[in-house]
Amino acid sequence: MDCRVTFLAEMERKILMLEGPDGVPDSLNLVIPSLTRPGIPFDIKVAVYDEHGFPATRAVAKVGVKGSGGGGLDVEISFTEGEPAVARIGGVVLGDEGVFRFEGMLGGRLFHSNPTRCSSANTESIWWGDPHIHTNLSNCHPERCRSLNYCFTAARHSTGLDWASAADHVSNGRCEYAKWKEQTAVANLFNEPGKFVTLPCFEASLQGGCGGDNNVYMTGFPDLFVDEYDGGNVATLADEMKGKMSEDDFIVVPHHTTRTGKHGEIPDAIYPGEAMMPVVEIHSKWGTSEYRGNPNPLKKVHDGPSYAVDLLNQGLPLGFIGGTDSHCTLTTGRGRGFEADHIDAHPGMTAVFANSLERSSLVQALKERRCYAASLDRSLVMGTVNGQPFGTKMENCKTRRIQAAVAGKTDIESVDIVRNGETVHTFNPNDWRADIDYVDEEDLSPLWLSSKHIGDFVYYYVRATFGNGARAWSSPAFVLAGCRT
Ligand SMILES: [Zn+2]
Ligand SMILES: [Zn+2]
Repeated sequence: MDCRVTFLAEMERKILMLEGPDGVPDSLNLVIPSLTRPGIPFDIKVAVYDEHGFPATRAVAKVGVKGSGGGGLDVEISFTEGEPAVARIGGVVLGDEGVFRFEGMLGGRLFHSNPTRCSSANTESIWWGDPHIHTNLSNCHPERCRSLNYCFTAARHSTGLDWASAADHVSNGRCEYAKWKEQTAVANLFNEPGKFVTLPCFEASLQGGCGGDNNVYMTGFPDLFVDEYDGGNVATLADEMKGKMSEDDFIVVPHHTTRTGKHGEIPDAIYPGEAMMPVVEIHSKWGTSEYRGNPNPLKKVHDGPSYAVDLLNQGLPLGFIGGTDSHCTLTTGRGRGFEADHIDAHPGMTAVFANSLERSSLVQALKERRCYAASLDRSLVMGTVNGQPFGTKMENCKTRRIQAAVAGKTDIESVDIVRNGETVHTFNPNDWRADIDYVDEEDLSPLWLSSKHIGDFVYYYVRATFGNGARAWSSPAFVLAGCRT
């Protein structure tokens, strides 16, 4: 194997040093693509984190990285004192088909990479991103936040993401034309299709009952953001956006829908439709908004039906994404002591299935719910219902066969098959990787949920929980009683 190690460019080093908290080296972040193909080279991203998850900038560290799966990789990287410990091993190849992890040593401790599924049948990639980062431009906890430069540099090189969105606030006077120009210019500067994508975004707050807090994701920046905080709702927000760009080029995504005072109940009257609102953010550092009683709730929870399963049961066909909602511009780690106290859950991330890494392919895949949500780690959760990928709609059959490949950095604690919000089966694989196969033979007649938007349906998704507290949620698959769309 002809591997080469590269380090950060001078400007990237400078950016991480200037705004980094200068923490002590604590853990090793090894990132590999979740989907690989035998014989096709890829990069391993290597970063030493401080105890909060920021890139360690005073590392004198030696990192050893070993491979598996017929790769035979064995590399040692020395980091110099006074520089961010971030590197990349290029030209790595796996020879065999299967699910593999790489391992690294830092200070005598063993760390695993995220898993990769290596198969010649992989035609697309999984692109990992944080769709929800706040920077100085949000003017929200400004004493904690960092610049857009830091946001994109740390997300790309230290966290090792494929894409990121600076989701800065625009409502309540927190943005104006000058800030918007800055947001546009810097995001466009850092956007390198195929390598690292900055997905244009802004956070538009709405009042509780009007859709709550929503992020707008776009294929490009319009002349100005849209703010409907005073008197608008999520449907008027989408309508105003249609005046700025084609419906194909943006989506509106509600988040922390169970937040008191800013709740994301979405009555049918203000639902902007499947194309405009294809996904919901199910987890962020605020906590999980999956279902009432879940083990990682927000600190204060709204009383009404605003969990993700409430919205699904109401008939809204939503996929799942995860983000950090970091208010210290940290796309990994809990950041305790750096984030505000109510923003201290595990970081969320979004996995997107697409052929190419560019703004338009990410938006298109999110519109098709070809994505899943994860907390803490880049866990693998991909599968099908009756042969159709999660996120899609399909016609009913007598039985539904649910198959999924699940793997994590740590052992899998459980894999739940969720139907209409209820867990109908749990697997306990006792391993870090597992292939799940479950057939639901139940007659669906008493189970149909009724939707104004997609007719009668039953939905299934997979929830995976790992030993270190990481979780992942596939997007739901929608089994339709009759195709009415
Ligand atoms: Zn904020
Ligand atoms: Zn936010």
